[in-house]
Amino acid sequence: MVRTTTLGYPRIGRKRELKHACEAYWSGKSGEEDLHRTGAMLRRTHWQAQRDAGIDLIPVNDFSFYDQVLDAIALIGAVPERYHWEGGLVDLDTYFAMARGVRRADLDATAMEMTKWFDTNYHYIVPEWHAGQRFQLASTKLFDELAEAQAQNIPAKPVLIGPFSLVLLGKARNGNEDLDLLGETLTGVTAVYGEIISRLATMGASWIQLDEPCLVQDRTPAELAILRHTYEVLAAQKGQTKLIISTSFGHVGESYETLITLPVDGIGLDLVHGPENRDLLHRHGLPSDKILVAGVVDGRNIWHTDLPATLDLLDDITTIVPHERLIVAPSSSLMHVPYDATRESEIAQELRQWLAFAEQKLEEVVILGRAVHEGRDAVAIALEESAAVTQSRATSPLAHDASVQAKLAIQQATHRSCSYAERRQIQSERLGLPCLPTTTIGSFPQTAEVRQMRRRFETGQITTQEYEHFIEQSIAEIIARQEKLGIDMLVHGEFERNDMVQYFGEQLSGFAFTHHGWVQSYGSRYVRPPVIYGDVTRPAPMTVRWSTYAQSLTDKPVKGMLTGPVTMLNWSFVRDDQPRETTCRQIALALSEEVADLERAGLRAIQIDEPALREGFPLRCSQWDAYLTWAVACFRLAASSAGPAIQIHTHMCYSAFNDIIDAIAALDADVISLENSRSGGELLEVFSQTSYDKEIGPGVYDIHSPRVPSVDEIVAMLRATLQVLPPESVWINPDCGLKTRTWEEVIPALEHMIAATQQVRLSLPRQS
Ligand code: GLN
Ligand code: ZN
Repeated sequence: MVRTTTLGYPRIGRKRELKHACEAYWSGKSGEEDLHRTGAMLRRTHWQAQRDAGIDLIPVNDFSFYDQVLDAIALIGAVPERYHWEGGLVDLDTYFAMARGVRRADLDATAMEMTKWFDTNYHYIVPEWHAGQRFQLASTKLFDELAEAQAQNIPAKPVLIGPFSLVLLGKARNGNEDLDLLGETLTGVTAVYGEIISRLATMGASWIQLDEPCLVQDRTPAELAILRHTYEVLAAQKGQTKLIISTSFGHVGESYETLITLPVDGIGLDLVHGPENRDLLHRHGLPSDKILVAGVVDGRNIWHTDLPATLDLLDDITTIVPHERLIVAPSSSLMHVPYDATRESEIAQELRQWLAFAEQKLEEVVILGRAVHEGRDAVAIALEESAAVTQSRATSPLAHDASVQAKLAIQQATHRSCSYAERRQIQSERLGLPCLPTTTIGSFPQTAEVRQMRRRFETGQITTQEYEHFIEQSIAEIIARQEKLGIDMLVHGEFERNDMVQYFGEQLSGFAFTHHGWVQSYGSRYVRPPVIYGDVTRPAPMTVRWSTYAQSLTDKPVKGMLTGPVTMLNWSFVRDDQPRETTCRQIALALSEEVADLERAGLRAIQIDEPALREGFPLRCSQWDAYLTWAVACFRLAASSAGPAIQIHTHMCYSAFNDIIDAIAALDADVISLENSRSGGELLEVFSQTSYDKEIGPGVYDIHSPRVPSVDEIVAMLRATLQVLPPESVWINPDCGLKTRTWEEVIPALEHMIAATQQVRLSLPRQS
């Protein structure tokens, strides 16, 4: 008998019920009970869907109101002091305060930091560690959900992030992230995990899945020794329960031999994104006391599985691991893919059958399990259909455009026509900006009104003319607003954009869009990633109309606003039938045509956003150089059609720059704005310690939080910035786009930002 499982399931609801419930709760429109009711309903639905599909072991506790790492933080009582939690159980408001920050009369605390989950576009809340930290069991969510599943007769497998990865994913609040603190923290955390495992075992859980995705990153022998110790402690508590250590997103490399000798019952390997895992299995085998959870269906991309080829892989694996020790699974949690591809009735039939979302992946997993167990004949029709789909993808003109291939074969410029020093001179004369120029990152609030107008336009309730008039009006208002605020370099507000990638993708060939294909980005923010299925071209200019309109309304410079090629790639579901680099170059080429058009239209500055450059990082350091080389080349390909008088800006929103500072320099952008405010200004040190010579706008406040910063806070931030960066290189801006915020938050925040800038400017030594 070959069993099947999933490692996690989408939790947001087919109709985004989770988002609506959370937002209603946050705004006070509904109470705690309503929220819990929605949670229970979603869990029941998801468990049932998996059981109905024929999945044998069903994950429990993969549900979360916000983030599974935050759940683990609550579980072990790792609540930072600033939330004034007094022990006991972590209540819902403390939980959300950690996620979102609070500003109440009795409590004023910034949100916890957020960062990308491995190389996905999901963001988790970063745990905070400090010396002497105490941990305690502080949430019953995990146990409650197990009891709930048991009451519904679900073959439940509780899942939670493993202690080793939890600790590694956290961050030492006061510097020194040394092995001592890691060891000390892990000891404390593991003690609580021991209690957790023991309690789950007592409750009768037959299986527990501990996710240790940090094992697909480079690990030192010292860390692996700590890993072993951790699992020795946990194993002592597991009783009859089978403990599985699950990994995803890559191969486990040097950790393999440790992993297979830990006192646990099974390991999970990602055989899609870590094909090397197959070699590891062959080279070192798998001890006979271990089960293998074989991740063979891509859990994070949306392409149909080539079932015959995957069966070949599984057949090969069964030469090492016999049927009874094999569990067929997706390569990762399915939370990274949408629910159901068959709902996408507006996607061309041919393309639609290339797709598999969570529900289709359940079917694939079950078919594969059956085929291994009963033989291929048992699923002959499914295998034939799968082969036909593979064939269609390989040959369809939908995916293959000879003219794009031909264009790419010609050598394209990846250098600006002047040195940076010359450009800086030319641009500074042309732009005439004050010292510490102020700007924003591009978007202004996407209010209900803006979204409603777009919807009415898309559904034909208003004419193109009416819609465009509305956008023009919005642009005119935001230009006037920015002038009134006293901002120096303006933006057009991005009101016409549904999303910074989708907006472009919709105007490029080779991209498809789903109607219901939402995946969680962070908290209640969901995105519908585009599907890049074919060769990319730009049939017509994409942004020139709105950018030139905005510029026509003001003498101040307006930034043209583009999404960079690497970000478009990293925030999409990308075709897996050619190297990602090739797809990225196709997008870059299309953008370079747009840059040239914006220059011709009279724009003086163009921002090419690359917020996702870093999240495309391979998880193994040995592969970074290769990635950065092509990623940087693609950005430069997009930017290099600009003449020297065009100030090229770029924007990145994450805070760890140490490891890519050279790549950032290599982008050769004239100005870069960065997220900074959630990480306490530490990125500045990186810039001050290198010879980075270009202009920088370290974000002066956190736009991910509804909290409005005070003038004094921003002044303090600016003074700290000017301690490490020369004033002539510093720009003042929020740390990201403002589209998710309300006007009530944005206006005072920007007023404070401008007031703070003016105050600091006065204290600067006079420029001659
Ligand atoms: N220009 C974009 C905006 O302001 C950048 C968003 C981002 O960095 N994610 O919305
Ligand atoms: Zn950003």
